[in-house]
Amino acid sequence: MLMIANWKMNMSRKEIVAYLDTLAGEDRWGVWNEREIRLVLCPPFPYLDLLRKECVRRDLPFGIMAQNMAAFDTGPFTGEVSAGMLRDVAAEGVLLGHSERRQYFGETDADVTRKIERALAFGLVPVVCFGETQEERDRGDASVVWSRQIAPVWEAVGRDRAEGRATPVFWAYEPVWAIGTGRAAGLADVREVSRHLRKTFGKECARGLLYGGSVNAESVTSLFEKETVRGFLVGGAFLDARTVLCIFDRLFGRES
Ligand code: PEP
Repeated sequence: MLMIANWKMNMSRKEIVAYLDTLAGEDRWGVWNEREIRLVLCPPFPYLDLLRKECVRRDLPFGIMAQNMAAFDTGPFTGEVSAGMLRDVAAEGVLLGHSERRQYFGETDADVTRKIERALAFGLVPVVCFGETQEERDRGDASVVWSRQIAPVWEAVGRDRAEGRATPVFWAYEPVWAIGTGRAAGLADVREVSRHLRKTFGKECARGLLYGGSVNAESVTSLFEKETVRGFLVGGAFLDARTVLCIFDRLFGRES
């Protein structure tokens, strides 16, 4: 299980240290990690290296991923951060195609495809976000949108596999109407997405399905079905370390 915290453009150096101090009070991280139940933190770029060092210092086995990256490897692209740079600061993966990137920064499916090619070439684990808006859902077009967003990216994964690499790829179903609204999708919705991925792209693709959108200590319990989701991408709720602990305890405490 992957429990990914997307901090978005939040947190400061001081808040990160306090967050890790709170998490360090829990002694089951090693046990959870052995069971492949992993917490992954996605800080803003400037804090990637600090976060890594602070986790190492506290012996906290958390994954670290970036929230975005450039579609290019190097050169005159002011303000961009490449896959190679992310590897250099020991990030293990990267979120790609988040709906906020698509909505506010005009990212297209072609951009996401170019980015995943670079991520895979550098061995970064991509977490590709997809999902429909309320309007698309109301029109009955949700599954058309899922396929349109995933198809070119899945082809890029196929080209990468053909070169002999096998970097895992995750697909975060994040319906836009559920992000930051307090209105999470239901298990029936997520099962439908899982079925659609299996039917359209095959079992391997469906196996990497995550869910994101207003996940909190209440909604996560009803969405937790191991055969359907490999984990969750969590925004607002995981800005609070105590909620991280509460959700881990609720979902996995009884397993350890
Ligand atoms: C997100 O934006 O990735 C997200 C899941 O946000 P929230 O949990 O706050 O809805």
